[in-house]
Amino acid sequence: MAHTLPELPYAKDALAPHISAETLGFHHGKHHAAYVSKMNAAIEGTAKADLPLEDLIQAAASDGDQGLFNNAAQTWNHTFYWNSMSPKGGGAPQGDLAERIDRDFGSLEGFRKAFADAGATQFGSGWAWLIVRDGKLEVRKTLNAETPLTEDGTVPLLTMDVWEHAYYLDFQNRRPDYIETFLDKLVNWDFAAENLAKSGQ
Ligand code: MN
Repeated sequence: MAHTLPELPYAKDALAPHISAETLGFHHGKHHAAYVSKMNAAIEGTAKADLPLEDLIQAAASDGDQGLFNNAAQTWNHTFYWNSMSPKGGGAPQGDLAERIDRDFGSLEGFRKAFADAGATQFGSGWAWLIVRDGKLEVRKTLNAETPLTEDGTVPLLTMDVWEHAYYLDFQNRRPDYIETFLDKLVNWDFAAENLAKSGQ
């Protein structure tokens, strides 16, 4: 069965003025849609056609099928990114997640600095992540379509797209301003907390 492009979890203009409807229109309707359709074209009629998306990403990675990996991982990464933001986002995490951010990064400010640095120093295209591994919260950055989903024992909690197409219409070359806006106004702490609880770590 072919994979489908998931709907955005909010209206296209719901993140404005921080991320415009125009950006989400292109980013979801063109970029994300293209990853899904190229992935579907690559697996149609093959043994991988019926794999769940996560298994397909792992299979493409272990087969060294870079083209399929890129499109499958980007399909997953973007869905995870839409959910990492909310029209009611920003602010501070609560409960267990807040305590563990304090424990593992020293403070919320410590996390924000590590995450912002990861996003700002990812040369070229990629992603910044909050992940949990061996019970510890960590920040990661990945290049192009790379995703911590393929790392053993690692569960992604949040992500931020730092490809230029994520911010150029709204922020032009000012990636650090996009990152600050993501952290101040958009980050969906409830989503991260749910992912942490589900991880069992
Ligand atoms: Mn993107």
